[in-house]
Amino acid sequence: MKIRIGIVYEEPEVRVTSHRGMRLSAKGTSPITVPPEHPVMIRVERPPITTYLVCTEQPPASLPPRNWTQMTVGVVIRDGTQQFDQRENWSCLEFATLEDAQKTQRDLGEQEVYTVLRRKLHPGGSLEVWVNGKSYRFPSPLTLDSEDGRLQFLEVPYGKGFHWERREQQEYSGSFEVYAYPRGVVVVNETEMEPYLMVVNSSEMHPEAPFEVLKAQTVAARATVLATMGKHHYGEPFDLCNTDHCQVYRGLQRVQEVSKRAVEETEGEVLVFEKEIVDARYAKTCGGITEDKVYVWGGRPVPYLRSIVDTHEEPPFHPPLEDEQSARVFIDARPPAYCDLPESEVPYLGEILYRWEIRVASEELRGILREKLGEDPGEVIEIQPLKRGHSGRIYKLRIRGSRGEWVIFTELEIRRVLSRSHLPSSLFYVERTGEEWVFRGAGWGHGVGMCQVGSVGLARAGFSYDRILTHYYRGTRLVKLLNPEVER
Ligand SMILES: [Zn+2]
Ligand SMILES: [Zn+2]
Repeated sequence: MKIRIGIVYEEPEVRVTSHRGMRLSAKGTSPITVPPEHPVMIRVERPPITTYLVCTEQPPASLPPRNWTQMTVGVVIRDGTQQFDQRENWSCLEFATLEDAQKTQRDLGEQEVYTVLRRKLHPGGSLEVWVNGKSYRFPSPLTLDSEDGRLQFLEVPYGKGFHWERREQQEYSGSFEVYAYPRGVVVVNETEMEPYLMVVNSSEMHPEAPFEVLKAQTVAARATVLATMGKHHYGEPFDLCNTDHCQVYRGLQRVQEVSKRAVEETEGEVLVFEKEIVDARYAKTCGGITEDKVYVWGGRPVPYLRSIVDTHEEPPFHPPLEDEQSARVFIDARPPAYCDLPESEVPYLGEILYRWEIRVASEELRGILREKLGEDPGEVIEIQPLKRGHSGRIYKLRIRGSRGEWVIFTELEIRRVLSRSHLPSSLFYVERTGEEWVFRGAGWGHGVGMCQVGSVGLARAGFSYDRILTHYYRGTRLVKLLNPEVER
């Protein structure tokens, strides 16, 4: 089964070589052949148009009428006599600029309408290609076929926008297409699912983790690819990107033996709920309780992404933790859970942040808010959680400053706005003591689905990968797909 991955995203130029030679072709032009080890440089000559889509599963009836366009996204997967319908109905608004799209997202957010932002590539555009000091012109997209099915991309950036951004050579197998975009070149790699998973495993996971965890994560990753195909990058010519927006996929040169074994031993296995392949979301540390998907991304309720407590013991607290008092007691009490592991015993996990405390001076917080809101809030007077989900994670919050009031919607936006980078989670309470604001919280990440640290705790307690998965994704079962076909 083939999947399409965006491996280079809007780079000013891309340089690529092959060990056995390659052929460049595009519709309506004569192909050219490039000898082995000759670098090819590709740039955008004429950019195409892209627009922005703001989409929701639940268009609000109460707002002024808008020109919502109905779309069906996602795919149907067939495997023998079995059929899995992964499609969703979205209503979308289209915008010429990112700024307009984001403004509409914020407006809708104030009405508690969850939306996603998608980019739409329109046909057109052309590419300039340099080989041996000669330049050629191709319409977009350009197809690259290498003799041995592999290409080496030179100086590909990764960790873009983070302090650890680097460049490295990356090797990929399969077939390749290069698209012109407004700000650079996009490379799409079409590859088989199983080799893709070996790379994802090696890029995203720790080889030192218990083998049952690597298997559980492999099954989750395989299911997620199928469940989300055509959704995360609806409007673009690939299924998944190669960053942690989708799943990190950074070249064959990284494949580790243990990852290969985890993929082989779970070959074709996915998690299924009734007639649907599971969109197996996961986050680093749940803090003792996972969140229900509807409070994080909205949309229809998904039974296997409900909030669960991350223990098999009777918990000393009683969800929902929707009110201030319950959330606060839970955070301060630090009840035991599978993800409450001593960092020294699992050094490969890095920081766990089962419980955390962050202190910010008042002036510093004002500066952060000025940067994140784009307006000066003045002196910060109050930070008031307005709504918490089942697990106590805040998804709507009011910031009152001497110069105005802001309502922040979605857990991710709350985490983004209240910190220079991001707060670890939105499961926190906040108090002012003197000239400082003190945030006390639990967990790291959105908290939906599998708790990665908890999965290590479960494996250490003797649970096998299938039981780790069904602990987090309730009501699901393992199904082995023999020869899945995708109907787009
Ligand atoms: Zn993505
Ligand atoms: Zn957990």
